[in-house]
Amino acid sequence: MSAVTDKLRRIRYKQSGLCIDCGKPSFGRFVRCVACLYKYNLRQYRYSKNHPDRIALKTKNDRVKRIEEGRCVRCGRPLWDVEGRYCIACLTMNHQPKFKGIFYETITTS
Ligand SMILES: [Zn+2]
Ligand SMILES: [Zn+2]
Repeated sequence: MSAVTDKLRRIRYKQSGLCIDCGKPSFGRFVRCVACLYKYNLRQYRYSKNHPDRIALKTKNDRVKRIEEGRCVRCGRPLWDVEGRYCIACLTMNHQPKFKGIFYETITTS
């Protein structure tokens, strides 16, 4: 099977809510089923273990790119203020479930 038809097949599966790897019903909002998600995560994990230098380089590149584009260096969302390096969510720790919404509402509604 060529790479092109493989890609098309994945797109078709994704659109019909099927696992892009094996064609079984996908899990929740993911594009893979549970079994393939597990395998995929394992693969990613192994890769990051075997290539720590590449992951570090990618993280560094992402950071540089985000600073250049004026986005949050932590998550890539738009910046809260032009001078800063973080978005409102990162600044207010809105990513942390226990703080979620509290600071955000305080700032945006004042
Ligand atoms: Zn699958
Ligand atoms: Zn952020």
